[in-house]
Amino acid sequence: MSRVYNFSAGPSMLPEAVLKKAAAEMLDYEGSGQSVMEMSHRSKTFDKIIKDAEQLFRELMNIPENYKVLFLQGGASTQFAAIPMNFMNKNKKADFIITGQWAKKAYQEAQKYGAARAVASSADKTFSYIPKTTAADFDQDADYVYICMNNTIYGTKFPELPDVGNIPLIADISSMFLSEPMDVSKFAVVYGGAQKNIAPAGLTVVIIREDMLGNAMDITPTMLNYQTMADNDSLYNTPPCYTIYICKLVLEWIKEQGGIEAVYQTNLKKAAILYDYLDSSAMFSSTVAKEDRSLMNVPFVTGNDELDAKFVKEATAAGFVNLKGHRTVGGMRASIYNAMPVEGVEKLVEFMKNFEKENA
Ligand SMILES: *Cc1c(COP(=O)(O)O)cnc(C)c1O
Repeated sequence: MSRVYNFSAGPSMLPEAVLKKAAAEMLDYEGSGQSVMEMSHRSKTFDKIIKDAEQLFRELMNIPENYKVLFLQGGASTQFAAIPMNFMNKNKKADFIITGQWAKKAYQEAQKYGAARAVASSADKTFSYIPKTTAADFDQDADYVYICMNNTIYGTKFPELPDVGNIPLIADISSMFLSEPMDVSKFAVVYGGAQKNIAPAGLTVVIIREDMLGNAMDITPTMLNYQTMADNDSLYNTPPCYTIYICKLVLEWIKEQGGIEAVYQTNLKKAAILYDYLDSSAMFSSTVAKEDRSLMNVPFVTGNDELDAKFVKEATAAGFVNLKGHRTVGGMRASIYNAMPVEGVEKLVEFMKNFEKENA
């Protein structure tokens, strides 16, 4: 068996230890004589899995008592509709900062349900930076302010949270979930799809402050009403059981690494190895403003499309896969989520250095 270094933006690599544990438990989960794939979501065994997963989220992210942790389906994209239906309910308006395609999609979806307003955008420079805002930029009557905190495609991250005064702040954290410490109490809602940094696709984790619940629009489908899901501990219908199980294994793995602070230190180290090389290379360069760089998604270019294509092809052959950049940015993108070992980034940089020498 030989495994590649997988730099996919999502679905992305999982810790090898997690895959091995899942493989070992595949046919007989803890003496149940069944795989987690096969068991009832109402069984005692599965109940413990989902409760343990929630407890681990609470412990690792230091989630305050007055927040619900929901395990949902439909991906982050479904929340683009669920969020306005549940929260754009008092003054029927919300403010958005447009930092890329995912923020824009959320903004466009919200326009179906109320007055969504774009407060700032970095579209003028292909979303290569995070626009600066002050509290005065936001409508104090807005039901919420919406941001995409780490922009998977463009490789930017909010270096600090925007000052939104007393307006509830909602953030898509799909591609930075569990990658660094964050103060959940600063947000009304944080959420993300699992397939970037938590588990395989099929699970969306939504963390909601309780006072936000209970005001969904009448048209809200039962399945998209967060109150329904909160009242039923995410078991209103059949949840994505196996994905929740893998999520639990990933959370246990993070705990074994020393928790989120330890994982963050490793992420800082990995990102520094790559950015330091990009900043010193005569061939490759980062596409993102220094102060706004993501720790998870690192786009880079040579400035020459043919050379980019050659690099991606040779890297793939050498076992560094899924490095082709998003079609709107071009070039390359290395996603270096929690599961990417330091060694993977070191070896990639070594490969890049050799490529630079050979193609100078
Ligand atoms: C991948 C991604 C999405 C879309 O997720 P789906 O689960 O495919 O709907 C939304 N936001 C961000 C930041 C992402 O990285």
